[in-house]
Amino acid sequence: MAIDVQKMKETLAPHVTPGQSQGQGAGVRAAHTLLAEYTYEPREVVKGYANQTLYINLDDNTIQAKPVTQQMKDIFIGGRGFGLWHLWNAVTPQTKWDSPENEIVISPGPLGGTTNFPGSGKSLVVTISPLTGSVMDSNVGGYFGPLLKFSGWDAIEIQGKAKQDVIVFIDGNQGRITIEEAPGASTNSYPVGEEVLAMFADSDAEKRDVSSVSAGTGADHSLFGCLNFSWYDMRRQRIRLKQAGRGGIGTVFRNKKIKALVVKKSSVNAESNQPDDQQRVRQAGLKVHREMHDLDHLQCHMRTVGTAHLVEIMDHTDLLPTLNYKYGSHPQAEHLYSDYYLQAFTQNTVDSCWYGCTMACSKGLDGFELRTGPYKGQIVTVDGPEYETIAAVGSNIGVFDPHWVGEFNYYCDTYGLDTITFGTAMAFVMECYEAGILNEKITGGLKLNFGNAEAAAELMHQVARGEGFGRIFGLGIRRMKQVFAQEYGGDPNFLQDIGMESKGLEYSEYITKESLAMQGGYGLTLKGPQHDEAWLIFMDMVHNQIPTFEDKAEALHYFPMWRTWFGLNGLCKVIWNDVEPVSNRQTKEPAKVPEHVDNYVEYFSGVTGRQATKEDLVLMSERVYNFQRVFNLRMGFGRREHDAIPYRSVGPVTKEEYESRVERYDKQLREKAGYDPTGKTTEEKMAALRAFREAEYQRLADAVYKRRGWTNDGVPTIEKLQELGIDFPDVVEVVRPYQNGHS
Ligand code: SF4
Repeated sequence: MAIDVQKMKETLAPHVTPGQSQGQGAGVRAAHTLLAEYTYEPREVVKGYANQTLYINLDDNTIQAKPVTQQMKDIFIGGRGFGLWHLWNAVTPQTKWDSPENEIVISPGPLGGTTNFPGSGKSLVVTISPLTGSVMDSNVGGYFGPLLKFSGWDAIEIQGKAKQDVIVFIDGNQGRITIEEAPGASTNSYPVGEEVLAMFADSDAEKRDVSSVSAGTGADHSLFGCLNFSWYDMRRQRIRLKQAGRGGIGTVFRNKKIKALVVKKSSVNAESNQPDDQQRVRQAGLKVHREMHDLDHLQCHMRTVGTAHLVEIMDHTDLLPTLNYKYGSHPQAEHLYSDYYLQAFTQNTVDSCWYGCTMACSKGLDGFELRTGPYKGQIVTVDGPEYETIAAVGSNIGVFDPHWVGEFNYYCDTYGLDTITFGTAMAFVMECYEAGILNEKITGGLKLNFGNAEAAAELMHQVARGEGFGRIFGLGIRRMKQVFAQEYGGDPNFLQDIGMESKGLEYSEYITKESLAMQGGYGLTLKGPQHDEAWLIFMDMVHNQIPTFEDKAEALHYFPMWRTWFGLNGLCKVIWNDVEPVSNRQTKEPAKVPEHVDNYVEYFSGVTGRQATKEDLVLMSERVYNFQRVFNLRMGFGRREHDAIPYRSVGPVTKEEYESRVERYDKQLREKAGYDPTGKTTEEKMAALRAFREAEYQRLADAVYKRRGWTNDGVPTIEKLQELGIDFPDVVEVVRPYQNGHS
């Protein structure tokens, strides 16, 4: 095989088509070499801000404080906004994911760290992505972000690359930051998380004051490495992990030779964020606590099974991805339903990824025995699985055994691999194997048929070892499409149709064929097909609330803006709309959950002292959203051609798909496309349906760009940038060549 994997990683243009004691920890730390040290006076947080950010450069071990300006707070708010602003100033249009100047920026936002409003412990991470070549953002729980802020830092920027593995330790109690060369046996997240706990927590009680960020060997050898953010579970007496999963941020992290970022801060409480009006915040939070307590068991069961409750809902509505998104349901899917997880998840324990989150949806499988790999036979706790993981490494690859789902979940986490990309890429590879594009000679003997969990597990371990077919698999779908076409004779059009990625990012786990709005919710996005921008399937397909192009465009304006706001403030989206007030269905716009929007207005105003309206919240997001679109453009992306989506996400690619739902498709041809299917072959009907649906997607893009104030090529207009107050000279210069008749 003549494939230079390293070269593929570097040069392919992405748009072209168990624990230790404290004593042991001290011993390990003694082997560290101190590379740099910085002392500071820990600042109090006032009205949600520490008013300074931390800059670290691993090329020369610089450690520096930077002020937070009023303009940063006014325009970028915090969280993802601060991350994007720092990244913009750090990189150039020529910067690649593995360029030294590329940064990883982590920021919690002004509401992040609040303990009396549920869902307030998120960190936002941005970087230039190995998968997309453009800007990536990811929202993650765990204690790191809040503890960072209460240590006196609104964000941490990490630039440069270390020569050997390092640990960056921020001691928010002592006001001391160190960069330490950290040799050690493993970079995998569970061992590293426990190791740093043993090194940096001075007592058992102090373990909850320490949080780490790490990746693993999967991130070393693939382009879809994730970051794991830890917190210490006092009842289980072990670390728990949450993932900044999407877009390969863990790969950038390991490329910088970071073994772990560690923060320690004690005495965090409800006063730590020093809100402007504590009573106002408490009142807003109390309402939400009450609703979750009174209504969750009647609505979502998040407190007992987490997002696993979605599996049966998706299966019943033909939206659960099975066999590489061919179908939305499967007779064996019931083995993955939440009744299994209700029994399997440990109940009546504290599963909150930050203090005060009474939703407590971060479930775990305790006493889980691993079947394969380097930890075979060990009894572990699996953090999850959540819905996306169950669908990705379960139904979508034809594996309907929940034990295997747990196995993939555990190893992907500790190796630092994104379960969504891993599962979606595995589904693609399995379909290629069954289509004869791949064979055992290519895969090194792995029979990668749908449902072959053993083979999939071996491939996962190969990725983590950087061996065999795992080296190809670790490139992600967009690059595999090219390899399979060029090296193995696969039909590039077929590969393009069935490879579920857009912008280079693998799809998250929903079938979108019957929801044009959700096709846009995945395609007309900033970073790629992740459901955190817009999840419109039920509004569109089930409730028929957005029938016209204009309705869909309005939804594809409002919801991405609204959801962006959580990322500016360090919040979890789950609290907004998973449990709804009893009267919500009677409101004019139930999908927006108006009462909860009002809560957030109170919450934001109460913390920052900046009196806001609900319209102001959307405006805050619109500024950052448009800035990120311009950032994409600056990196060579961010136009209509980059919003293209694979046909598998639009309609049936194969005869078997069409014929499995022939009545549905024939009806649509007749009633919507003006095409009489009578007497036509399946191929003729498929072609007619494809022409119709692909045109509909472009019409949707027209309407969405117009609603967002963008050109017909998907570029923000200068007028829009002026209206939003982000018409900085260097921003305007990026869009000017693409105005096409706009000023
Ligand atoms: S709802 Fe779940 S994911 Fe969100 S903050 Fe609470 S425990 Fe974490």
